[in-house]
Amino acid sequence: MSVTTPYAKLNIPNTLAAGPGPGNTDARVLSAYAGAGIADHMHPDVLRGMIECKLMLRQLMGTGNVHTFGVAGTGWSGLDCMMSAVMPGDTVVAFANGTFSGIDALTLRMKAATRDELAEDSLNPKAASVTVIEVPHGKSVTGEIVEAALAEHKPKWAFMAHWETGSGRINDIQGFSDACVRHDVMGLVDAVSSLGVEDFSIDDYLGVAGWASCPQKGLLCLPLTYAPVSFTDRYIDTLRANGAYTYANHPIMEARHWGIVEGRDVENGTYHRTHSAYAVSAFHEALRINLAEGLSNRAEQYAIHESTLRAAVEAMGCEVTSNMTSLVVLNLPPDFAGREMELVQMCRAQGFGIWPTLSAPVQVRIGILNLLSLANITEIVTRFADALEALGAKLDRSAILSLLETHYQTRIAA
Ligand SMILES: *Cc1c(COP(=O)(O)O)cnc(C)c1O
Repeated sequence: MSVTTPYAKLNIPNTLAAGPGPGNTDARVLSAYAGAGIADHMHPDVLRGMIECKLMLRQLMGTGNVHTFGVAGTGWSGLDCMMSAVMPGDTVVAFANGTFSGIDALTLRMKAATRDELAEDSLNPKAASVTVIEVPHGKSVTGEIVEAALAEHKPKWAFMAHWETGSGRINDIQGFSDACVRHDVMGLVDAVSSLGVEDFSIDDYLGVAGWASCPQKGLLCLPLTYAPVSFTDRYIDTLRANGAYTYANHPIMEARHWGIVEGRDVENGTYHRTHSAYAVSAFHEALRINLAEGLSNRAEQYAIHESTLRAAVEAMGCEVTSNMTSLVVLNLPPDFAGREMELVQMCRAQGFGIWPTLSAPVQVRIGILNLLSLANITEIVTRFADALEALGAKLDRSAILSLLETHYQTRIAA
């Protein structure tokens, strides 16, 4: 009797991952993933690796918070963990200026909703205790906006995305933190897009009690690994006093496997879930790379390459509306307005992985995560120019390419 399998082996092609994320996983990270042994999750080297990861994460995030570790999964896993202390009926003010902070605000509405509110519209609950301040797409959340809302509502929690990847906007983290301090509010921040790209230390922001990031953007660690999180003692005390409706993503319980017990570092973690030796190994290598390159150096490289890419697409007649340094969000030249989806789909079909915005208005997003070389930027610019020409644009290629070179050299010299 012959055994047949229903599908051929899955082959996923390589693409030029020039979107907002996932970023290009470093080859060293992939090889650490594939090169780990099949040790179990309580093997001494796996446990030691997790402790080292925890210590490296504290350094990368710039924090003395004991409760700093990785949540197994993707960015949303870390965000879910961070928001787990928000309980039904808790008062929250959330600032939304794009796709991701919009989903964060939905998560908060789900967590803060009463049972009746949840039953009323379980997938989109209107929690009376949650105020969502909508800031238009393409605009940043400013300190004044945060101050006015916190002064008016005096909530227990406030939420903001540090960098809103949907619209490519940097929000005012200092203003957010200051307003939280002034009104004695516990700030929660989605730092998914900023960690590993921007040079900042979370301990500088005294009003923020909880932070969550992701593996796949600045950290270059896509193979399903860990979403970094960090919590102040105040957050942990609040959580301990009130509890949370989760086991897997419970910040106090999950921390134990990383050797954080009763608010202190202990020598070895204790079982919480079956962590993967492959994932630990990959995450460890990603953190080593990030720390070896140094945050300030990486932040500077991102700024140089983003401004080079920005200058090139502007020379093609595009209008850039973002201010993040890992991403440009742009409108096509007026003659091609309305054809963004067509252009993005054409590029993606050719293995050039750029993205549209995921919520209105439709714009094009081109990212440079782990693509920090003039050669990579030149390839992105060339392929984008090919696509614009395929739509009918007339471009002066040699002018654009020489602009790239001069812009880059000027920035390097500066
Ligand atoms: C990418 C992103 C997320 C979601 O992260 P996943 O890894 O897809 O779960 C959340 N918030 C922001 C700001 C993001 O950029």
